[in-house]
Amino acid sequence: MSTLLSAAEPLIELAIAEDIGPGDATSTSTLDAGAALRGRIVAKAPGVIAGLPVAEAVFQRVDPTITFVARVSEGQEVVAGELVAEVSGPGRALLAAERTALNFLQRMSGIATLTRDFVDAVATTGATILDTRKTLPGYRVLDKYAVRMGGGANHRLSLYDMMLVKDNHIDSAGGICPAVARARALHPELPIEVEVRTLDELRQALSIEPPLDRVLLDNMSLETMREAVAIRAGRVPLEASGNVTLARVAEIASTGVDMISVGALTHSVKALDLSMKVAPEAAGVSLAVAEAGGAADPRTRIQEIKAALGERLVILGHHYQRDEVIAWADFRGDSLQLSRSAVETQAEFIVFCGVHFMAEVAAILAKPGQHVLIPDLTAGCYLADTATPDAVQAAWDALDAVLGGAEAAFTPITYVNSSAALKAFCGKHGGLVCTSGNAGPVLRRALAQRPRVFFFPDQHLGRNTARRMGIPLEEMLLWDVRRPPSAAEIQRARVVLWPGACNVHQRFRPGHVDAVRQAYPGMRVIVHPECTMAVVDLADDAGSTAHIIKQVAAAPAGTQWAVGTESRLVYRLQQEHPQQTIIPLADVPPYCATMGQITLHNTAQVLEALGEGRLLNKVTVDASTAHWAKIALERMLAL
Ligand code: SF4
Repeated sequence: MSTLLSAAEPLIELAIAEDIGPGDATSTSTLDAGAALRGRIVAKAPGVIAGLPVAEAVFQRVDPTITFVARVSEGQEVVAGELVAEVSGPGRALLAAERTALNFLQRMSGIATLTRDFVDAVATTGATILDTRKTLPGYRVLDKYAVRMGGGANHRLSLYDMMLVKDNHIDSAGGICPAVARARALHPELPIEVEVRTLDELRQALSIEPPLDRVLLDNMSLETMREAVAIRAGRVPLEASGNVTLARVAEIASTGVDMISVGALTHSVKALDLSMKVAPEAAGVSLAVAEAGGAADPRTRIQEIKAALGERLVILGHHYQRDEVIAWADFRGDSLQLSRSAVETQAEFIVFCGVHFMAEVAAILAKPGQHVLIPDLTAGCYLADTATPDAVQAAWDALDAVLGGAEAAFTPITYVNSSAALKAFCGKHGGLVCTSGNAGPVLRRALAQRPRVFFFPDQHLGRNTARRMGIPLEEMLLWDVRRPPSAAEIQRARVVLWPGACNVHQRFRPGHVDAVRQAYPGMRVIVHPECTMAVVDLADDAGSTAHIIKQVAAAPAGTQWAVGTESRLVYRLQQEHPQQTIIPLADVPPYCATMGQITLHNTAQVLEALGEGRLLNKVTVDASTAHWAKIALERMLAL
């Protein structure tokens, strides 16, 4: 039995005794003994799911004949209304177990959801979000598991598996050095962390040999944390703690600390709103079959409208889309490739099942009379949103001021994962667009044209590409929006990188590669270049989504792959290449939440509107922006 279920078992016993006790009086009196029910556990709010194995264990503890089928993965983001799991079996048992199962699932999903918010807030930095021991008594293993499902990492589990020397210990032992000496003498086998309150205490902690495993900066101001990062000079990892809120965490991470511990993840839990609706189990009809039919089924509506519109309609499905959506796509691919395929058709209506910037590219390239629609206008891109036109313009102005003419010195390059406004910015300033597949040639062309490059919004793609071309890290400058670099730093830079990152690919860590190497010797690790440099350096191969698909498809049968990219694509590769062993690189595989906003339901709504002659969720780009953005795209396509 897993550690999670071992820890959950006594809690489940306690909860069932508390809630069901001698029996569910209402269900036993209102339901026939032989009545069978099926239930659908549905998310009523967006969030991250954690605790499905525990919920299943609750149902099975109440009645082992209950069938539990998870419809999403642990750690997966869901949208409001999304089906999370289905259960079927004896009605009385199902209803008796419902509350307890949901209580576990809601609490754990609430922790995972809040953790993901913190993880996303620091995704453009290298900081890791940690939990604390501020957990519900008895629930520590469950709470900490949920933090991992949210993308956070665990601090020590208890007082026995790591030493944290805090102010009370230091004061009692007579100082940091004696406290550490005593702790190490008695427990040399345990990692040790020391809490410091001032820079003077930090210096004392840094003077200890051998170096400490970690230093905790307790309740320090941002300025002091920045100084602490400079003082430690990479010697010991630093953890920030105290007064960490969602509003402050990005600023704290920007100081350069390695970890940030957040008590609120587990001490201030807001349960994720989930509900279970039941219906009589139709004899001999499985849940999946029952769901697939019927006039209200979105699949039926999509099929009818697709047939009615024929070649007037083309549906595009990005590789990171849900399986049930991509099943309807006329073209499947990555963003630029999809747009180019669509505009070559005679279709009047292009329904882009992807995120907003992708639909914008299709709108920019569309022929007169072609309309681009997206099932959810709010489906954005975390990475694209890290670079607003105003912020990029402010950085450009700063470069201009230092070098006396940014346009003579810098070629601006925007990754295609950016707003149309930034593509237009590049078009106006002699720059161009790149994709993850052609970033190398684009960078080379840019550097042949002008001596320097301003690359946005993805720092990792820019850094990984420039390094591959042999440009040393010392010639790259990471722009800091809060504290713009000095004139001297700008003058030294050949490649200026915008501090953006994708919150999906950023979640792959070097530890994931190490764990795969240990568990599966000989397995090839292939990652997307939006991953950090540390991950790309450890991988066997890095390349665009198209490159990853091509490599896996072309490999001999029996090849083993750990794939570091969005999870829906990884699982689809698994299904489509059963002759290979394919696993996600991370233990909690990351999903793109905004891609997940596109559902069968909202796709059907857009098509239904088309069927009625309405353009729902039309994506438009104003003529001037489209003109300049197209120039930047065409410069890339001309390469
Ligand atoms: S995977 Fe990352 S870059 Fe791609 S759409 Fe999602 S957030 Fe944006």
